[in-house]
Amino acid sequence: MRVRAYRFRAYSSKTTARVLKTQFEAACRLYNALLHAEQEEYERNRHMMSRNELRQLALDLRKRNTEFQALHSQVAQQVAERFYQARERFLDGLANKPKKKKPHKFLSLVYPQSGWRLSDTREVGLGKNKKKRRARLYLSKIGFFTLILHRELPLERVSQVCVKLDPSGRIHVIFLVEEEAETLGQSSKEPKNAVGVDLGIVRLATLSDGRYLENPKPLERSLDRVRLLQRSLSRKRFLSGNWFKTKTKLAKEHEHIKDFRRDLFFKLGALLAGEYDVLVLEDLNVQDLIQKSETKKRRMRLYDSSFSELRVMLEWQFRKRGKLVLPVLAFNTSRECFRCGGINKSLTLEDRVFLCPNCGFTLDRDLNASLVLLKRAGWVPPAVPVELRPIPPLPTLGLVSGRHGGVMIQEAPAFRRG
Ligand SMILES: [Zn+2]
Repeated sequence: MRVRAYRFRAYSSKTTARVLKTQFEAACRLYNALLHAEQEEYERNRHMMSRNELRQLALDLRKRNTEFQALHSQVAQQVAERFYQARERFLDGLANKPKKKKPHKFLSLVYPQSGWRLSDTREVGLGKNKKKRRARLYLSKIGFFTLILHRELPLERVSQVCVKLDPSGRIHVIFLVEEEAETLGQSSKEPKNAVGVDLGIVRLATLSDGRYLENPKPLERSLDRVRLLQRSLSRKRFLSGNWFKTKTKLAKEHEHIKDFRRDLFFKLGALLAGEYDVLVLEDLNVQDLIQKSETKKRRMRLYDSSFSELRVMLEWQFRKRGKLVLPVLAFNTSRECFRCGGINKSLTLEDRVFLCPNCGFTLDRDLNASLVLLKRAGWVPPAVPVELRPIPPLPTLGLVSGRHGGVMIQEAPAFRRG
């Protein structure tokens, strides 16, 4: 079984939104109470509470405290589950020790099997042929939300519903759906073509077929505004009305950047997965890269490019269609000649052109790297690389399907398996 998330925008009345916020606060205090009780128990009896003990403790606390009774019982247990998961991640060495949560950062609640109901689903026309559906979601102890269902939701397989508030005030509802692993498994078809993708700062992605995507640097572009808001925020009194107002503005700016990236990555992934059977990527450790960077500007740009998010999105688009993703060793990819394997040791970050000291071959640095990736994955790159050309502005791409669309780029040469 695999779990897939369906995320929808939700709208509520002001009253419901207020109730939601009170619930977050209650859940936050419950979380902190659990954390406190767990620590005491450990100090006194050297006993580590189990998952069930924590769930039971949450229910007991709820019985004794009227504030916690505002929460649905399963939601209270889910708070215990959240603490348990955080502690497990800490014990596995994957995260820091669970800390007291701050109320303005505790912004989601989870309903498992019960306590929610989706009803009143109906079509609402939008645009000419486009039909979206609207539905009412009832969350027990909170109220009603209007959802815009922009995609089909397999309601009978929903295992969990999560309601989440963005710091800017937007509400999203996320349904977790269990899916058979087979529907996402490898397709039986022999893969016919592969694309190597080199990720970089100057060009966000360079494909082995010569196409590339400029790095839009969303954060860098809105940095002036972000800085202005941050300065203004630091002058406000912590947690005051004006502080929250500025905080919301800042959150909106960050969400805009995030949405922009997500949208761009999604479209690039859809484009590639629509054309290719195999995706070849560098297996690089982004955190490592960021830490090793010498200048602040370079660190910021690495962060701004969000390689890991881009990778996850690209991989997901391929796997979703039952296609193959091959991560290959990142070692020396930009210094190796894709034709003869010679190494240019003197290549620096600033050099945009690769020159092979062995066979004298010159090629764009990123294009060469993407071809090296392809070769390392066991595919034969073309004898003569294709010329570099930009991918046209992506907003149009999502609407064009297949290779016959007007704005689509010329067909990529097919690579044979070596
Ligand atoms: Zn060479």
